[in-house]
Amino acid sequence: MTILDGKKVSNDIKDEITEQVKKMKAKGEKVPHLAAVIVGNDGASLTYVASKVRACERVGFESTMVRLSNTTSEIELLDKIEELNVDDNIDGFIIQLPLPPQINTQKVLMAVDPSKDVDGFHPENFGKMALDMSTFIPATPFGILELLDRYGVETKGKHTVVIGRSHIVGRPMSILMGRKGFPGNSTVTLTHSHTKNITQITSQADIIISALGVPNFLKAEMVKDDVIIIDVGITRVPDETSPKGYIITGDVDFDAVSKKASYITPVPGGVGPMTIAMLLKNTLLAREQRM
Ligand code: NAP
Repeated sequence: MTILDGKKVSNDIKDEITEQVKKMKAKGEKVPHLAAVIVGNDGASLTYVASKVRACERVGFESTMVRLSNTTSEIELLDKIEELNVDDNIDGFIIQLPLPPQINTQKVLMAVDPSKDVDGFHPENFGKMALDMSTFIPATPFGILELLDRYGVETKGKHTVVIGRSHIVGRPMSILMGRKGFPGNSTVTLTHSHTKNITQITSQADIIISALGVPNFLKAEMVKDDVIIIDVGITRVPDETSPKGYIITGDVDFDAVSKKASYITPVPGGVGPMTIAMLLKNTLLAREQRM
């Protein structure tokens, strides 16, 4: 069994980006600048945004964090987005989700200039992805592809089962794994909460990409020998013995499933760090496209 070490690979990617930024600086070029907008005080969202800002510092990008209060109106947020859209200094930006209930998330994501949409959530970019055109691929699916690529995990002709159909992970992942090329050329089954007999489906899978957010959902008896497991789930499970009062838990019963798997991502240290590395990669791409 091989651990797909997202922490290591993401560090390699950050080192590669750092080198590219050094070359840009040496040539007197502007370095990439990422902005992150966060609305409200959700603890997990603040942690994610802080780690994105730290990652920018690590590779030599400029970064801006835009903090708005929980009572921000939709119009106020749309105005802020327009400011970022026209700001020549900003190459790409993200709106950290979830947004408070008074704000229509779809309307907000549609307002982001597609050329600065480094999360790849705008319908124009999502459509390009589905049509095999060059575009910003959402960071988490992009990170999974990169991990499979760097470990040389064969996906051609394999049966890939994706659990979860969210717009940011499951749905794009199902499209990408079925695309022509590598990683891709899989036969994909997309499952969700209305799927019947899910064990019957997962136990036939060569590759399982689990993105449902239910801790330890995928058990050893649900998978076949030599399965390839990508665990996207990140759930904070209360734990009094941990200094933070919680532990991060994936969707997969790692101890039992890893005994049957040929490749598996750990949680933490698998898909999570890859997501941030690929956001940086998309920001670099955005800068290059604006030169
Ligand atoms: P989400 O929007 O919460 O949606 C969950 C999906 O799982 C839905 O499609 C839902 O089906 C499906 N589902 C729920 N219970 C199920 C069940 N018992 N059997 C089969 N499918 C079921 O998903 P998300 O935003 O993609 O997040 C999923 C997990 O990934 C969360 O733990 C999240 O924190 C984590 N995540 C991690 C990263 C990372 O960087 N590693 C990035 C993003 C998300 P319906 O559509 O029918 O409701």
